[in-house]
Amino acid sequence: MIVRSEGNHLVTADGTRILDAGGGAIVTNVGHGRPEIAEAAARSLNEIGYVIPPWGTPDRVRLRDRLVSNWLPAGMDRVAIVSGGSESVDAAIRLAVAYQRASERSTKWRIIGRRPSYHGATIATLSAGGHDARRSGFDSTLLDYQHTAWNDVDALEQAIDQADPDTIAAFVAEPIIGAAGAALTPDDDYFVKAADLCARNDILFIADEVMTGFGRCGTKFGHELFGVTPDIMVGSKGLSGGYAPMGGVFATEKVVAPLEATGQTFMYFTYSGHSASCAVADTVLRILEEEDLVARAEVQGQKLRSRLEEQFADHPHVSEVRGRGLLLGVELVADRDPHTWFPAAVGLKDRVVEQCMDRGVWVYPAGSGEIVQDAILLGPPFTITDDEIDQLVAVLAQAIDAATAAAS
Ligand code: PLP
Repeated sequence: MIVRSEGNHLVTADGTRILDAGGGAIVTNVGHGRPEIAEAAARSLNEIGYVIPPWGTPDRVRLRDRLVSNWLPAGMDRVAIVSGGSESVDAAIRLAVAYQRASERSTKWRIIGRRPSYHGATIATLSAGGHDARRSGFDSTLLDYQHTAWNDVDALEQAIDQADPDTIAAFVAEPIIGAAGAALTPDDDYFVKAADLCARNDILFIADEVMTGFGRCGTKFGHELFGVTPDIMVGSKGLSGGYAPMGGVFATEKVVAPLEATGQTFMYFTYSGHSASCAVADTVLRILEEEDLVARAEVQGQKLRSRLEEQFADHPHVSEVRGRGLLLGVELVADRDPHTWFPAAVGLKDRVVEQCMDRGVWVYPAGSGEIVQDAILLGPPFTITDDEIDQLVAVLAQAIDAATAAAS
């Protein structure tokens, strides 16, 4: 039971302070307990209760203007605000299919995703995702989407050919794979080649930046690291820093123009773009800008990464430290050579999380199946201090030793 959160910590009912090194679910970026964010929510709610999503409010317009002028890539100035990550990817899939239909390519409905990946828990987003554990038990309900190996452009080309390019509306990918892959990072040229392949086949490229967006990787968005611009981008967690349920769908004029030309409307969710949530997100983004926190994510990320590399260079049960900025993964194995997982029944990642919690640090368990089974994902607030980095690395090392000793 968490009764308070402040700075980089969560506080339990008995007063124990837990270092939030997972940023909740890789959400918290400006830290907890910022009074100006609570004040913005109160001010907005005092002004306006509920207004249907297609209408304007000053807080909606302010957020959209800030996104377009300070955050979104050039040319990506179409904005829809929803209430979370799954909603944003789901809406992006609808947008892609509607775009194809409006462009007289109505046979294009299928999505190509990757394994591993996670795009959300609605039926369409679970179908697009390659998270074996979270898909399990829903096979008969999931849509007949296609999946390809996460870092292999030839495999993507084969998947497109096999599925028939005339049936594919969009390719969806996380720039760096979060929950399913613990910060799996593709080759530098992967996305340039993948985006080119998509363009040649009239397939839209959707970047799922729910986890990587809004500074998490030390850049405004993860796709920047790979020299590409998607047709549609979605964001969520960092957009409101955990202070309001929010997601965003961002698109280029190319995507929206055919819908407008054919007069297609697009059904909203009732709570899309709630004015108070927009006021909150606008304040979170302002704090990120004023305190230069995206640059800080890069600096603190490099420190954390080199401390982890030092600590685990020769560790028998850590096969890799990876990721960018403050989205870092630590992969856990029974043996490094040959690369062997602990038996799945051990549930090693959860055991490590328990050991960390016993020592007052929250980290996020990651991995989704045979490609990445056990890993820990680190995504602390960008405000994490040097001392907290030291504490995190020391506790994680003790936790991994304790959990692997018990499992061996
Ligand atoms: N996409 C990615 C990359 C995510 O990491 C997540 C959640 O972890 C989602 C989509 C789904 O977001 P939500 O849990 O807010 O629905």
